[in-house]
Amino acid sequence: MTDYKKYVCTICGHIYDEAEGDPENGVAPGTRWEDVPMEWVCPDCGASKLDFVLEEDISD
Ligand SMILES: [Zn+2]
Repeated sequence: MTDYKKYVCTICGHIYDEAEGDPENGVAPGTRWEDVPMEWVCPDCGASKLDFVLEEDISD
């Protein structure tokens, strides 16, 4: 059973979904957040991985 998580950009609100990845930027669907390269940046605003937080931590 998969347990994909979502991470939210704290700058622009873009969501990285592990289930979907970011294939347009070289991250295959199903890529875990910890496996996303540090060079990857938010496709919407260019923020680094460090500016993303786990969605569960900010939703009510
Ligand atoms: Zn962003």
